[in-house]
Amino acid sequence: MKILFIIPPSSGHRRIVRNIDCSHESKADYLWQPNDFLILSSFAVPGDETALIDGTADRLSDSEFRQQYSVEKPDIIFYAFSFVCWETDLAYFSQIRAIFSETPIFVIGDIFLEQDYRELILKSCEGIVFVPYLIDLKKMAGAKGARGKLDLQGVCTAAETVPFKKPKHVMRIKRNTPRHELFQKKGYIFPFAKRFRFATVTTMWGCPFLCAYCSDSNISPVVSSREDVLIELEHLREMGVTELFFADKAFGFPKENIRPLLKEMAERFRFSWTCYFHPQLYDPELLEAMRDAGCHTIIIGIDSANIPSLALYNRHVNKDKVEALVAHADRLNISVCADLILGLEHETLSDVEKTIGYALSLPLDFASFNIASPLPGSVIRKKVLKEGRLSFGEGGFDTSGKTGIIGSSRIDSETLRKLRTKAILKFYLRPSYLMRRLRKTGSLEHLQIQLLQMIALLKGALGQTEKK
Ligand code: SF4
Repeated sequence: MKILFIIPPSSGHRRIVRNIDCSHESKADYLWQPNDFLILSSFAVPGDETALIDGTADRLSDSEFRQQYSVEKPDIIFYAFSFVCWETDLAYFSQIRAIFSETPIFVIGDIFLEQDYRELILKSCEGIVFVPYLIDLKKMAGAKGARGKLDLQGVCTAAETVPFKKPKHVMRIKRNTPRHELFQKKGYIFPFAKRFRFATVTTMWGCPFLCAYCSDSNISPVVSSREDVLIELEHLREMGVTELFFADKAFGFPKENIRPLLKEMAERFRFSWTCYFHPQLYDPELLEAMRDAGCHTIIIGIDSANIPSLALYNRHVNKDKVEALVAHADRLNISVCADLILGLEHETLSDVEKTIGYALSLPLDFASFNIASPLPGSVIRKKVLKEGRLSFGEGGFDTSGKTGIIGSSRIDSETLRKLRTKAILKFYLRPSYLMRRLRKTGSLEHLQIQLLQMIALLKGALGQTEKK
């Protein structure tokens, strides 16, 4: 069987990450590996051929993109959409659908968390993959001519249009090793990596937490066995990869899986790596085990200076725990990137200014200032749709705010844009901050990655134009 993965070009070569849960445009100059496709590639068996055309990573022109896919003879195609550039992704998809009229095509994309978009795309594809770890590739490849009529696990079809049928609980699965070789493109850059060459590994897909402003609050966690992750790590070592990004939304969950994994990583491997880490999962022993296993950077959601107020959105985090985590990471020399959200519906201008001040007061290494956005499946989107401030077909809103800011009922979009720019400049241009980063930058390659990202971040913040 030949399996073809396709990511379309992005207009203006924008670095857009297309995912099932949350797509976004790069806030600096990075582009993640397409993690959902990586997971899907682990269903290929020996003898199967796999190919990847990534028009965004390879910065393909329309004609180069067409040239690449027209020579392929796949048995099944996976195609990625993003909410950020829905219109152009749909136009490329229509061209591909016309050429491969007899080949089963399955799509992924955060935009399909919404029913209207699901219904539209299901008229012209075999299904929408929502839980990549549950698919039956053979059955899907045999879906030729049965467009949308099959009942497939982990996939929405015309026969089953609800993406997540089960209540939120942890699923455990066995899986193979993804075809990492396919995803070693130069165009993929991870902003916190110490080396340009890296690989993405997932021990848990989905999220056990329920923050209502996040698309992932809809997605039940699926956990890989420790044995499968260790086999994958062996494979990556054989490939000569030394830098990893653990793409779990909350690394460290479930604890009984992660503790023994970290122990084996510390004993058997010498990877250096980054992960998302949820402050509620923090305990000193776990953080130290992560450091011993090679973790050099954690990305944590702080979101607001008024942490208790986030309970309004089902996010329950203890402020003392956040501060203890940040201080402990600082002592262990683990870098911390904090995610912060500007413009949540309940917040005033002064609240947002406090959040920026809070970020400046903590010993952080990076701060990702996100604009509260109407992400598919989020409460913010439901609200603005209900109020008629957004309608079907209108996309382009992600947390970078580069191509559109919806604003809240208390703070308008232009003020939010200015606040984000101010926050970035204030945070990253402090002499003490620059000295801190220089102290933590251990090689010329690491310095090059950091400089590229910082220049792009500052240029992006200063050059942002208002769309709405
Ligand atoms: S913990 Fe993070 S990924 Fe999970 S629902 Fe909350 S914001 Fe989303």
